[in-house]
Amino acid sequence: MAVSPERIAEIKKAVEGLSKEEQQEKLEDILTDEEKQELFGEQKCPFCLIGSGEIESKKVYEDDDCLAVLDINPANNGHVILFTKKHYPLMTMVEDSEAAHLFVVANKLCTVIYESMQAKGTNIFIANGAAAGQNSQHALINIIPREEKDGVVFGWKPKKQSEEDMEETAKKIFRLAKSISSKKKNPEIIKQIVRKEITKEKLRIP
Ligand SMILES: [Zn+2]
Repeated sequence: MAVSPERIAEIKKAVEGLSKEEQQEKLEDILTDEEKQELFGEQKCPFCLIGSGEIESKKVYEDDDCLAVLDINPANNGHVILFTKKHYPLMTMVEDSEAAHLFVVANKLCTVIYESMQAKGTNIFIANGAAAGQNSQHALINIIPREEKDGVVFGWKPKKQSEEDMEETAKKIFRLAKSISSKKKNPEIIKQIVRKEITKEKLRIP
């Protein structure tokens, strides 16, 4: 169903004078899912398109639930990206059974990469959210074959932390981790992270 010109005028009015971020927040609130679909445009996920074969890829593994292809901008030769065929914006949102399967496949792909690429090491890397360096809108696992001194860097400067701060942090995490098996899949904080990812995309309000 098309969004009527009257409704578009109404939406435009609602976001008038707001900053870009405020506009996007407002739109998230006032638009129905149907309207979002139409106004945000049909932003097809490239990884879903790879999954359906609409985008060509160099496939290295496939089963019913997941697919692994060569990264087109590899960190090293043999850099593989592994992802679920079902669209999940964040790895934390992947169903437990699929996440378990995905890690088993990732682990076995590492073995395959050691053998086939004569790699000396591998990294399994997941960027969970834009703040963590996730550039794709589809959750994925990077599997990177490594050599000594290959110039691939995963680095951070260790920070100093007091005993008290560590104690407090450990308690904070422990408290919630206790009930990990009954943990809800998508608490509000995760929805917020995903919302940010979505609203970063261009609006297509005419
Ligand atoms: Zn997708």
